[in-house]
This record gives sequence, C-alpha cells and structure tokens, in this order.
Amino acid sequence: MNNKEKPTSLEDIPAALRDISTSPKTSSPNLQLIILGVGGSIVMILVGIGVMRLFSPSEPVISDLSPTPNLSPSPIPTPAPEEIENILGHLRYEEASPDQLKSITNDGRIKLRTKAADSFLKMQRDARANGIILTPISGFRTVDQQNYLFFEIQRQRNQNPSKRAEVSAPPKYSEHHTGYAIDIGDGKVPGTNLSENFEKTPAFRWLENNAAKYSFELSFPANNPQNISYEPWHWRYVGDPHSLETFYKAQQLQKESSVDVNKVD
Ligand SMILES: [Zn+2]
Repeated sequence: MNNKEKPTSLEDIPAALRDISTSPKTSSPNLQLIILGVGGSIVMILVGIGVMRLFSPSEPVISDLSPTPNLSPSPIPTPAPEEIENILGHLRYEEASPDQLKSITNDGRIKLRTKAADSFLKMQRDARANGIILTPISGFRTVDQQNYLFFEIQRQRNQNPSKRAEVSAPPKYSEHHTGYAIDIGDGKVPGTNLSENFEKTPAFRWLENNAAKYSFELSFPANNPQNISYEPWHWRYVGDPHSLETFYKAQQLQKESSVDVNKVD
C-alpha cells in the first residue's frame, strides 16, 4: 500500500513471502511487521492487478501496449492545400509551353502539341481525299486568352459564371491549354461552326467514324458527366502517354457515368 516501500522491497518478494509462511518465530517483532507490511503491499498490488484485469476484459490491449501506443484515433486525412482541381465541371489543366507547339494553319495562328498537330494534319489530308473539309477553328490557348474568352464574353452576354461555364471553361480549366484540344468546323458549312448543328454536317459524321484512327475523341458528348454542354466540334488528342495522363481523370468520369447508365438500363 505504501508506495515509498515498493522500490526497495521489490527484489525481496520471493524471500518475503517465504519468510511469512516458514519462519515467523525467528524474526523480531519489528521485522515481522515490516515483512507483513511489505508482503501485504505486494499481495494487495497483485490482487489489484487481477481485479483490474477481471473487470476490464476489453482493455488488456491498452495496458499491454501502454509504453508506445498511439491510442488517439488517426487524424482524418485532409487534402493538401493545392489548387482546386475541378470548377463548375471543368478539370484543371497545365498550359503547354510554346516550344511544344506546332502550327496547323498556314498563317501559324492555330497550334497544337507536335504529336497532336501531326495527327490532325494527317486526318485532315485523309478527310479531304474523301471530299470532307476539316477546318481548324481553335487549338492551343493560353490562360490569358481563356481569361478574355471567359470573363469578357460573360460580361458582353450578361451571363453569370455558372451559365458561362456550361459553354466555356474558366481560365486554367480549359482543355485548350494543353495543346491537345481542337475545335473543328466543316469547311463547306461554316454556318455551323461552334454550334450544335455541327453534328449534322458531313464533317462531323466523318469524324465520328474516323477520328479514333487518328487518336482524337470527342471531349464533351451529349449528357457528359462533367455537365458541360454538348460540343460536337471540340475534340482532344489521346494518342500518347502524356495526353492520356492529361485526360485520364476526364476519361474516368466518362467511364463511371457510362457504367451508371448501364445500371439504369
Ligand atoms: Zn473547344
């Protein structure tokens, strides 16, 4: 019971217990008292431990691990304070650097990443051989250009940002920053440029049947999971590892939503 006795008496435990039972008469009264006190303390401690174990069967892990354990619940992982990766349905994209770009028009006005540019030019040649004119309308855009397109046009059209985001990506969130995305028109039906009616043109039908051969896919089909309005004119290149990585998240969203659609059906 007396805590002060514990440090000096621990080594004597076996002897003390034997003394109590075998040779009480040889000990002096004072020594007997001490032995009884020490022995009593030890017995009480042992009994106490036993009682604790009896009444706390769910806690042995805690007492057994007491020197080290981190018993507090693990902290809830919080996202790193990085840039928001998704805004109003649009995913965030890095801007390609000028040395990664190649012109796809004679005036040098429209550019794509080199591999996407080469593939588009080949697709354009092959389409022309079939009587189809694929006209590039817009390719790579800087964040500054997108800034103008998003906010200036938003003001001119008196749109709120959510409405504007249905038809245009906010700056830093446009696939056009990557140099892999291109808006395509039908050179024979320019009145359908950047309009849903483009889907009725021979150029769109040709793209539907052939673009995959050149590693181009439609970014925003009707009812896309990103909730961006249908853009039959907007295609992206996914023909090399970097472009695949760039659009991996967007493609996952597409796949997940098509799985959901199948479930509903
Ligand atoms: Zn576009």
